[in-house]
Amino acid sequence: MPDNNRNRQPKKSNKILWILLGVVLIITLLGNQMYEIILGAKEKEVSYDTFLDDVSEDRIKDVRITDGFITYHLREDEEDYMYYTTRISELNLQPTIDELHKNGVEFKAIPPEDESSSFLLSWIVMPILLYAFFYFVLRMVMKKSGGGGFGSIGSIGKSKAKVYMEKETGVTFRDVAGQDEAKESLVEIIDFLHNPKKYTAIGAKLPKGALLVGSPGTGKTLLAKAVAGEAHVPFFSISGSDFVEMFVGVGASRVRDLFQEAAKVAPAIIFIDEIDAIGRSRDSRFGGNDEREQTLNQLLAEIDGFDSSKGVVILAATNRPEILDKALLRAGRFDRRIIVDRPNLEGRYQTLLVHTRNIRLAEDVDLRKLAQATAGAVGADLANLVNEAALRAVRMGRQTVNQQDLLTSFETVIAGTEKKGTVLTDIEKRIVAYHEVGHALVAALRKHSQPVSKITIVPHTSGALGYTMQMPEEEKYLNSKEELLIQLQTLLGGRAAEQSVFGIQTSGAANDIQKATELARRMVTQLGMSDRIGLMALSTQRDEYLDGQSYMDCAQTTAAKADEEVQAILSGCYEAAKKLLVEKRALLDEIALHLLQKETITGDELMAYVNADAHCLNAGEGEKV
Ligand code: ADP
Ligand code: ZN
Repeated sequence: MPDNNRNRQPKKSNKILWILLGVVLIITLLGNQMYEIILGAKEKEVSYDTFLDDVSEDRIKDVRITDGFITYHLREDEEDYMYYTTRISELNLQPTIDELHKNGVEFKAIPPEDESSSFLLSWIVMPILLYAFFYFVLRMVMKKSGGGGFGSIGSIGKSKAKVYMEKETGVTFRDVAGQDEAKESLVEIIDFLHNPKKYTAIGAKLPKGALLVGSPGTGKTLLAKAVAGEAHVPFFSISGSDFVEMFVGVGASRVRDLFQEAAKVAPAIIFIDEIDAIGRSRDSRFGGNDEREQTLNQLLAEIDGFDSSKGVVILAATNRPEILDKALLRAGRFDRRIIVDRPNLEGRYQTLLVHTRNIRLAEDVDLRKLAQATAGAVGADLANLVNEAALRAVRMGRQTVNQQDLLTSFETVIAGTEKKGTVLTDIEKRIVAYHEVGHALVAALRKHSQPVSKITIVPHTSGALGYTMQMPEEEKYLNSKEELLIQLQTLLGGRAAEQSVFGIQTSGAANDIQKATELARRMVTQLGMSDRIGLMALSTQRDEYLDGQSYMDCAQTTAAKADEEVQAILSGCYEAAKKLLVEKRALLDEIALHLLQKETITGDELMAYVNADAHCLNAGEGEKV
């Protein structure tokens, strides 16, 4: 069976060429026929003696003499027939010509080559030109419809696989910022694609595929393209979800087509994005699906079937490696896992450098500062940010992008565009101001806490009425329990301010509470930071690279106990934040008033207030958590 399929495509393409030839022949025949019909509509054959009569009676207007024929028109002939007669070569034409000359008739001979050249033109040159014309038109149509030339003509209408092929991606490692570890692991693959013999000579088998694992937008596709670009090999890409079709069997045939195409032009890279769409585990926990299983089986068969010494390397990307079928990860398949992390400070800086390469920047632009402010952003966010900034600069009618453009577009990207239209009542504005300063003040006063880069009460389209932008000065991978507790206090500081100043609780704190609860729950159920629960993991995380959802994995009574513990931590932090704000009420009022007037204050301004206050009171004693 598989062998049958393997031959199918070349046969099909030959057939198409034959059909093309047939069409051209028919057109040529018809065309020449038409030509003759059009011209011949007014032809009339006459006998030789009629011709001689016409000559002697001086009825002739003009005459053409060729080797085979004599054709002529009459002077008085409304229909203007072209009369012709076969020339009799034994008869001497001289007297006739003399007579024609005497009568002043225009006559000329047509040389024999002329005839054969017109034959050549209409029966050979024209068809060849026609054939070439159709051939190119057809090829262009084929290319447009997504295949690589005639090889894929057979796939028109049969499977609309969105295989996307680039001969040269033009992307190199220079275009991928950071991700040094990932690049290092890929260097070997590039070397292999360059020179497979070096590896096969020694008997080494290179992995057939590597799995790129990381959050969306971290540059997995970009890396795969860079591998193809560095190795100067064609790049085939398809998304896992394209394989999953309504009809059973279509996905499998697409997999087959994809591998055939790649094998034809090997060495090549096949990139399968979102491989989890087909490769998810076949056990029933995630729901079974016949079509997907068939597709996956075909994929496994193809991976096992192809000869890696030919130089086809498969790269696949996913952000949910944990749901992939074990069979895919087995040795000899995607046994290499390359982690594509969210970029750290340096990585973000490098990414900004890459994306501002072709942007005209103003003098005041400080990309390092921007990198610092964008903790948590992935490459795609940063690319987006730079573009937004450039658009903003154009909107403002400037020639260069300045720091303000970059910072504003960062806010657009993370918080939605500033929504100037939303009007808050005065009391609402006051509550929002106190809420935001509450967050900021708690953060600033607790020693370990990160400084705030900006507080604003300008509403954003994302729904936040105001926000406090925290700015980590350095990357942190480890957090102590104390630091996490301070984070909780900061998160709850908004509500604590509302409550202590106005004695009310507003809906504005919903998001804070949500975040605080998640963090507290993680401390209890995963980080072993609760004395009552101890060092026991109660929940397991899945989707590590997506939103980090987790599910509880313990007895119901333990879960209830964990809930109580989460509650206790949260209310403890809330009380601590409230106590702090009550103590610092004067400072809180001062800053909130300032914020109400200016709508936006910077972290530096905030710290100026805080430091002035600390100076005044000389209050060195640290707060107990
Ligand atoms: P993924 O496949 O991981 O979802 P992509 O590779 O499609 O992410 O990245 C989307 C875009 O983000 C890229 O086209 C590129 O402009 C930008 N990008 C992502 N990561 C990087 C990086 N490390 N360096 C430079 N640009 C990046
Ligand atoms: Zn808040």
